[in-house]
Amino acid sequence: MKSFEIVKYFQKNKRNNLLKALKTVNKKQLATIGFLVSLTLFYLSGPILRLSDETLESASNTMESNAEALKANLNEVISDTIVHNKERQYLLLNIEEKLVAYLYQIPDYSYFTVLEPYLEYAPNILEQIPSAVPLEKGDYWLSSEYGIRQHPISNKEKKHFGIDLAATLNKHVYASAKGTVVLVLHSKNGYGTHIIITHRFGFQTLYGHLNKVLVKEGETIAQHELIGTVGNTGTSTGYHLHYEIIKNGLKIDPLHSLRLKQKIYERLYIKTKRYGTEEKRDP
Ligand SMILES: [Zn+2]
Repeated sequence: MKSFEIVKYFQKNKRNNLLKALKTVNKKQLATIGFLVSLTLFYLSGPILRLSDETLESASNTMESNAEALKANLNEVISDTIVHNKERQYLLLNIEEKLVAYLYQIPDYSYFTVLEPYLEYAPNILEQIPSAVPLEKGDYWLSSEYGIRQHPISNKEKKHFGIDLAATLNKHVYASAKGTVVLVLHSKNGYGTHIIITHRFGFQTLYGHLNKVLVKEGETIAQHELIGTVGNTGTSTGYHLHYEIIKNGLKIDPLHSLRLKQKIYERLYIKTKRYGTEEKRDP
């Protein structure tokens, strides 16, 4: 073997070894990079997920401490009435602002109870939140709840993103909150003829399988306003209203929202009545 041949041989071998080494290193590196990337993503997503929970909890705590401050302010007898009234006025003015901010943050109805001390001062806000049954009392029965269920047609397990309220043909369907009609669609499948309404605080409601639609896209409607009638359009096996509530883009369980306004109003009325009789007793 001549000297240049030896050099060539070594160069070839070296290149092969290098290629081999590169291949193995690449695979290992790739695995390492993949592992690091997933680890980074895991650590990045963790705080984001936890953050929303923490933010919500701290917001809930803030609302609770504000409610306490309000209660204390209303109950305390302070000799300096001017200061007291100013403080109270300031607190009451802040209520709506805090309510609004808080309502945009809560993902569903789970933290709703924290709001009750404030709703006494701003009960009209419930008209803007899906808080009523979209059908008349006695017109319907709950035939399917939110969650995993056996699909009646395909027989497969499927998540049901709303509730089904069984009713007879053309029973009146009402908007569960004040809002703007953003969609009216006549589809042969799925939801069939359906309406989507956008409300304040990140809420949307969907009314599916309708027979008639009595509103137009872009129309502003009040809570309890007639919007359509019950039907059996789309993928449906009988006359019923498929009702969905979407909060901040996610479909949530509407069950807690049904009669919510009425329940809170009843509680507030009892309070008002009690305070009323107490006031009457005062000379
Ligand atoms: Zn349904």
